[in-house]
Amino acid sequence: MGAAGLAAGGLVSACAPAPERVQTSAHIVIAGAGAAGLTAASRLAQRLDGARITIIDPRVRHLYQPGFTLIAAGLQPARYSVSRTASYLPRDVNWIEAGVAEFDPDANTVVTSTGQRVRYDYLFAAVGIDLDYGAIEGMDTSLIGQNGLGSVYHSPEAAEATWRSLDRFAETGGEALFLRPATEMKCAGAPLKYTFIVDDILRRRGTRSRSALTYAAHNNVLFSVPIVSEKVRMLYQDRAVDTLYGHVLKSIDPGARRAVFDTPGGEVERAYDFINVIPPMRAAAALRNSPLAWTSGPYAFDGWAEVDRYTLRHVRFPNVFVVGDATGVPKGKTAASVKWQVPVAIDHLAAELAGTQSDSRYDGYTSCPLITRLGRAMLVEFDYQDNLTPSFPGVIAPLEELWISWVMKTIALKPTYVSMLRGEA
Ligand SMILES: Cc1cc2nc3c(=O)[nH]c(=O)nc-3n(C[C@H](O)[C@H](O)[C@H](O)COP(=O)(O)OP(=O)(O)OC[C@H]3O[C@@H](n4cnc5c(N)ncnc54)[C@H](O)[C@@H]3O)c2cc1C
Repeated sequence: MGAAGLAAGGLVSACAPAPERVQTSAHIVIAGAGAAGLTAASRLAQRLDGARITIIDPRVRHLYQPGFTLIAAGLQPARYSVSRTASYLPRDVNWIEAGVAEFDPDANTVVTSTGQRVRYDYLFAAVGIDLDYGAIEGMDTSLIGQNGLGSVYHSPEAAEATWRSLDRFAETGGEALFLRPATEMKCAGAPLKYTFIVDDILRRRGTRSRSALTYAAHNNVLFSVPIVSEKVRMLYQDRAVDTLYGHVLKSIDPGARRAVFDTPGGEVERAYDFINVIPPMRAAAALRNSPLAWTSGPYAFDGWAEVDRYTLRHVRFPNVFVVGDATGVPKGKTAASVKWQVPVAIDHLAAELAGTQSDSRYDGYTSCPLITRLGRAMLVEFDYQDNLTPSFPGVIAPLEELWISWVMKTIALKPTYVSMLRGEA
């Protein structure tokens, strides 16, 4: 997340007059208490007077996922990303500690994993992403941290285990493999930045000359925004990171340290000494298998929610909003996007409750602090049209490797993220 983006947003809301609270007795259910669900809970509690708000999620640990990369770089321990869901919940919000097993938007109801039927007037679905490690043959997440097997995405503990694997690998060097899935994914810059981080660590240990680093892209670009893709390509060339295109991880043999990729020319096998496995990602199962998912088009296959990309309101069920990673929109699977999505969705709900209309729009804002070496990052911010949208134009250049962008990612980001969860940024 761009702390700059968050900071700028915080500034705007600090200067603008707070919108009037809306009187309502509506029951609003929030499914999912991650970055988007908690932000929605805080903002709804601030904006509405008299509403009943219920949040449903079984997860008692809150995971600050942008920290996983820092943990896997050996810069933070696993506990850096772990806090308590309960500590972000506003006092009057009722928390049901269960999963949503079924969304039934025709009946304005969700059914929990414990069989409780919960009726709502309005629903915020914020259930995020499922990591589908099972789709990679031979992959066993319990082996992360052994035999050169890393995976930054799984959990704080797996990120720490990935660091242990990398730490051993960096002593000797060898073949390192990096990749991304062929699906939509959260923080698409994370696989790229981890490749840069490994390169830098090997240089610092003096084992870079004994190593080969390969980044395997799933299609023919390194990043969805062309100008960023080209910049990363040039930096990889400069750092001697080999690039492969059209390579999608199909299977892995963790014992033999071999990975097989599907490519347009058939299967290709590669040996490795270290690998960062990133699984295919799909909308969380309950949403994916519900009427809320797209039924056709590019977002149908992995079950992303069919929302209007500018309002986050569901296209077929107007009393439903979907925010965060589960939305079926072209960009925006970052915590920084959550910061901009949630207020827009809430503006539309509040306007409806007040009998007016809102013209708030989410423009696709996505932010990725792309670490390019320890101590340097590029703060890449963009919108649906692939325009670069720097929060501080003229101060933080988006495609320059800057110390200030590194500070944003490593120091400023977490407190701003926490403020976002509390509805204060
Ligand atoms: C390695 C990594 C690096 C990242 N780096 C950055 C970064 O630098 N900048 C940035 O902005 N973003 C980054 N992100 C992305 C960011 O963390 C996510 O975009 C953000 O957390 C999305 O919020 P969310 O609420 O949609 O999903 P989450 O925060 O994942 O929360 C989803 C919640 O839904 C719950 N849930 C799932 N299914 C159900 C169900 N059936 N019923 C009830 N609850 C359910 C889960 O338990 C979870 O609590 C990174 C992510 C990763 C993994």
